[in-house]
Amino acid sequence: MRIAVIGFGVSGAIFSIAYKRAHPKDEIIILEHLDSPLKKVLATGNGKCNIGNNSSLKGIYNDDFISGILERYDYETQEKFLDSLNIKTKLVGNLAYPISESAVTVRNALIKAIEAAKIKVIYNANIEDYSVNDKDIDIYLSDRSLKVDRLVIATGGKSNPKLGSDGSIFDILNDHHYRINKLEPGLCPIVTKESFKELDGTRVKGEVTVRKNNKIVFKEKGEILFKKHGLSGIVIFNASRIIAHDLNAKYEISLDFLPEISKDDLGIFLSFNKADVLLDAYIHPLISERIKKENLTGIKLLDRIKSFKCHFDSLSGFEYSQVTIGGVSLKDVNNKLESNIEKHVYFIGEVLDVDAPCGGYNLMWAIASGLYLSDYL
Ligand SMILES: Cc1cc2nc3c(=O)[nH]c(=O)nc-3n(C[C@H](O)[C@H](O)[C@H](O)COP(=O)(O)OP(=O)(O)OC[C@H]3O[C@@H](n4cnc5c(N)ncnc54)[C@H](O)[C@@H]3O)c2cc1C
Repeated sequence: MRIAVIGFGVSGAIFSIAYKRAHPKDEIIILEHLDSPLKKVLATGNGKCNIGNNSSLKGIYNDDFISGILERYDYETQEKFLDSLNIKTKLVGNLAYPISESAVTVRNALIKAIEAAKIKVIYNANIEDYSVNDKDIDIYLSDRSLKVDRLVIATGGKSNPKLGSDGSIFDILNDHHYRINKLEPGLCPIVTKESFKELDGTRVKGEVTVRKNNKIVFKEKGEILFKKHGLSGIVIFNASRIIAHDLNAKYEISLDFLPEISKDDLGIFLSFNKADVLLDAYIHPLISERIKKENLTGIKLLDRIKSFKCHFDSLSGFEYSQVTIGGVSLKDVNNKLESNIEKHVYFIGEVLDVDAPCGGYNLMWAIASGLYLSDYL
């Protein structure tokens, strides 16, 4: 059997290695349009690669369709497979990282395993189209064509296109009549109607609440980073993902700068002290300065501290996003990740409409789907 894998990212690499281990006589050819592999993995986890998470995965992903795959390839199973590739991991809380704390370790180990398995890689592969015939599949590149028995599409989404996932495959898949659920940037900074010029670069711990048409749809504590034109930080990334799933709604974001102290307790403090004393004592000086300018007192001041309102303007765009919302509809694949439209065509990783919050879950899906397909193909 001859298999082409489009995309030398994590899902494509994991599938190729696992499949070749089980079927050493079969041939795998990876077609990668960049001139080098696994560029994105180097950027993950701020260069440390948050490669997994050992907490419960219930309700984490956008679609339950994939829960069986993640149950079968859960954290422990993935950890064992990674260990067999010489990727040793450790947990920091629930987050898994390579012990080296370097994404380079992960990239190098995957490249080594691909080389050791003698998997052929064609770089700068410019794929123009493919056609599925009765007995085989033709893949048309700009400078050649290839005949294969199976085609695995592992091209990622559209996030951070300079790292390879530029969404170019979606035009081809559109022509092949796949439903591509609307692509939006997820896990990215949020642009607000308010400007935060004087707070640019300020980081504070707080709780973020997002209301969609006045109903709470997100509440999470974490570090909030103020940017000139909006908000960033992991908790904001996670909020952006929720918003990206329905951009037609109206959103309001509120920040609680003191989630550990109740409004009542602050009220008691305020009944004995002036507003400036409270702000000086409890709030980051730059935020305090901004609030002081409003000359608020009493409940209005407490509201500003416990529920600082920001109005959603837009998501900051694919070049700043870590995951793509949308992709090939899960309705167009069966439970073996094979296309319902074309025989012997398969999808793994982020090219499918699968996304999750920050915390290692998106790489877990890339790994789980690659391992799962290697069992079935
Ligand atoms: C900055 C950043 C930080 C992140 N940090 C984390 C993290 O810490 N933990 C986590 O779990 N997730 C993280 N993610 C998300 C995670 O990296 C992705 O979900 C995961 O890499 C998806 O794997 P994939 O194999 O599906 O696609 P990708 O990793 O995107 O790989 C796709 C590959 O296909 C190639 N390709 C694309 N189109 C074509 C084409 N038409 N022809 C040929 N080749 C093509 C690309 O060049 C690329 O090599 C992060 C993402 C970014 C951008």
